[in-house]
Amino acid sequence: MKLQLVSKDKTNTKCSFIIDGAEYWYVNSLRRIMINEVPVLAIEDVEFRKNDSALYDEIVALRLGLLPLTTDLKTLNLKEECTCKGAGCSLCQVVFKLKEKGPKMVYAKSLKANDAKTKVVYPDMPIVKLAKNQELEFVATAILGKGEEHVKWSPCLAYYKYYPSIKIDNKKCSKDCKKCIESCPFGILEMKQGKVVVNQKKLLECHLCNACVDACPNDAIQIQEDETKHVFYLESWGQLSCKDIIEEAIRIFDNKLLQLSKQLKK
Ligand SMILES: [Zn+2]
Repeated sequence: MKLQLVSKDKTNTKCSFIIDGAEYWYVNSLRRIMINEVPVLAIEDVEFRKNDSALYDEIVALRLGLLPLTTDLKTLNLKEECTCKGAGCSLCQVVFKLKEKGPKMVYAKSLKANDAKTKVVYPDMPIVKLAKNQELEFVATAILGKGEEHVKWSPCLAYYKYYPSIKIDNKKCSKDCKKCIESCPFGILEMKQGKVVVNQKKLLECHLCNACVDACPNDAIQIQEDETKHVFYLESWGQLSCKDIIEEAIRIFDNKLLQLSKQLKK
């Protein structure tokens, strides 16, 4: 199996790569593990001391649960796997405090964690608006969890598509028709030296929609899916970098296979 990085943004929260030499079941397993099983931090318990805002405690708590929090997987444990046996300790939970008085908009950046490494990913996310003299005070506890339990613990959006293969038969092509070029929504086909060719820089934008195939009156174009080659896209919500998500997903996948192999040996 060969891997090739196609793109990566500066913040390392968005990347795409080509997986060459793997069937879809492998690629899809990896995708599902990334979304459902790579753990991240999210607020799970909120103890309200004061809430005069227009929103019920439950609604404020729901909004707090959905705030993405930076997650250090090297130091944090899942609560059920921690040495405290689920009682809650600094190795498996992070406690946030907030105390605000209106009039003002309360933003995510007002949350103060007891652990300097943990921060809200997007400080300007609004939580609730307080009118004059309204107060909001609570203690919130964040724990590691998995997306399979609740989407607030999911680290990313991950998806893939088959690698496109576009073949143009220039013998069948009538040079001045250009219908295929006009039909492509991404401008992947172009005219070069009197021939219709694929713009290789744009090839990965092909969604295999077959608009060019349908538009060609001479059946000169063929689009095929390469079933052992996939283009994989990963977008992190910000709790973990793309690198961390990929490494953790592969570690979890390997561990699953190891467990199965151990059981087979018994
Ligand atoms: Zn613990």
